Amino acid sequence: MRADANGAWDRPTARRALERFAEHRVRYVEQPLPASDLEGLAALRDRTSVGVGVDESLPERGLGACLDAGAADVVVLKPMALGGPDRTLAAARRVRSAGLEAVVTTTVDAVYARTAAVHVAAAIPEVPACGLATAALLAEDLADDPAPVEGGEIAVPEGKGNVPGPVAWRGA
Ligand SMILES: [Mg+2]
Repeated sequence: MRADANGAWDRPTARRALERFAEHRVRYVEQPLPASDLEGLAALRDRTSVGVGVDESLPERGLGACLDAGAADVVVLKPMALGGPDRTLAAARRVRSAGLEAVVTTTVDAVYARTAAVHVAAAIPEVPACGLATAALLAEDLADDPAPVEGGEIAVPEGKGNVPGPVAWRGA
């Protein structure tokens, strides 16, 4: 089980929350402190068995600063926010080299970017469970989903990347 505070807590609140989450075997909490508070995130890691994840800290402070500060156990990578698949994979390699977990998720993207995120995740060796089941958050999508979540898993499409079937704009 994982949680995401989206940077909403202050340091005392985050400390209390993670202490309670530890009792319930929550694996990690994304962004328990505001994106800019790398020092606080690093201090939080020292106080709890619950992992600390960074998400919004990446665009705000940069991956290098997050790694240098020791601010995270888990780094959440969003290809559409990081500049695409190649940059995301490069970031994942840096994260893994630092001994941390890299998790791929989406920015609640439509099918094309979401499918690209699936391919990015699949290209990371032994990637942990990712946050790619975001299609249901959309009221409608741009095309049929070639990589739907089924039973908690996604079969990575093996074709050239084309979404099968007619690609018709479904928006208003
Ligand atoms: Mg998040």
